[in-house]
Amino acid sequence: MQSTQNPTQSLMYITNRPDIVFTRGEGSWLVDSEGKRYLDFIQGWAVNCLGHCHPAMIEALETQARRLINPSPAFYNEPMANLAALLTEHSVFDKVFFANSGAEANEGAIKLARKWGKKFKNGAYEIITFDHSFHGRTLATMSASGKPGWDTIYAPQVPGFPKAELNDIASVEKLIGEKTVAVMLEPIQGEGGVIPATPEFMRELRALTKRHGLLLIVDEVQSGCGRAGTLFAYELSGIEPDIMTLGKGIGGGVPLAALLSKADVAVFEAGDQGGTYNGNPLMTAVGYAVIKTLTAPGFLDGVRARGEYLRTKLLELSAERGFEGERGEGLLRALLLGKDIGPQIVEKARDMQPMGLLLNAARPNLLRFMPALNVTNEEIDQMMAMLRTILDSL
Ligand code: PMP
Repeated sequence: MQSTQNPTQSLMYITNRPDIVFTRGEGSWLVDSEGKRYLDFIQGWAVNCLGHCHPAMIEALETQARRLINPSPAFYNEPMANLAALLTEHSVFDKVFFANSGAEANEGAIKLARKWGKKFKNGAYEIITFDHSFHGRTLATMSASGKPGWDTIYAPQVPGFPKAELNDIASVEKLIGEKTVAVMLEPIQGEGGVIPATPEFMRELRALTKRHGLLLIVDEVQSGCGRAGTLFAYELSGIEPDIMTLGKGIGGGVPLAALLSKADVAVFEAGDQGGTYNGNPLMTAVGYAVIKTLTAPGFLDGVRARGEYLRTKLLELSAERGFEGERGEGLLRALLLGKDIGPQIVEKARDMQPMGLLLNAARPNLLRFMPALNVTNEEIDQMMAMLRTILDSL
């Protein structure tokens, strides 16, 4: 094998990636191949809900690896059954399918809704989604997403995803017709810039979909698994959706996702849905450890408290620098900068010496914060101090 001087050279197909190779992680911290430490407020895009290399995850991985890694996708296994039971115990759903990514779970949700439409709604198949939504990078989930430009980039799209405006019930109502089978949304738009659907809108949407006999699908790939300060973000509005998808946080960093539904919607038949690695015991054992940790007494209270702490600190900074405030829930928050300096801040934060800070600008005019759910107030203070240093240098 040929060795190259720069280990990232063979990965050059992604052109805008910085030349950093991470080698270790612990909690809110990452270390690169040069030994530089980074305070991580991205956490694998809200994935590592327990931070890097959490002991409960390591324990689950090691124990399960010694026991059984992959029986066969045609049979059940113990960790997958345990995790499914845990998820139904802590949610309003009855049935669980596992997947390997958020996009795959959303594909499953779309298929389930279409199958339900065939069975119960005269073949209705359209799913109303929202401007600026993000549901994944497969062809159907890109078509469902409301990301500007995605309607043409891989045209023709998968048909059947008319777009409404978030928090505008009239824009949804206008799109409902004979072909409509469901409405699908992120309770908090993550990639779109941390935009929560208001509890009133969620309740109106539930009432509207019930009135028209439509399914309500929540994509909680980013907002779920404790991120919003509740186990699932739909709880914030007190509604009961028909279908929910999970990804990211459910595996705490390993490739695991899930599709949950109410019993009366679970219309998949043998062969309709599945995949070689769906419900893999190594991943579901970790998922079980993650959900157990998130649902341990007091954990989510802590997320809400730290979310409130971060919110207060962001508001202080916003007032001090003339920014436009903040928004979000729990530990998914955005600082509204009011000008397009987000990408510049992200770059400077990363390149800071001797320690770096990992932030994200979901849109150029804001910074998105998605730290580990067990981040400490001291780490939040440290992040704020680093952010102030960067703002001073602009
Ligand atoms: N839905 C939402 C709300 C997401 O934020 C994402 C990822 N950013 C996805 C779906 C896609 O998940 P994955 O990258 O695991 O396919």
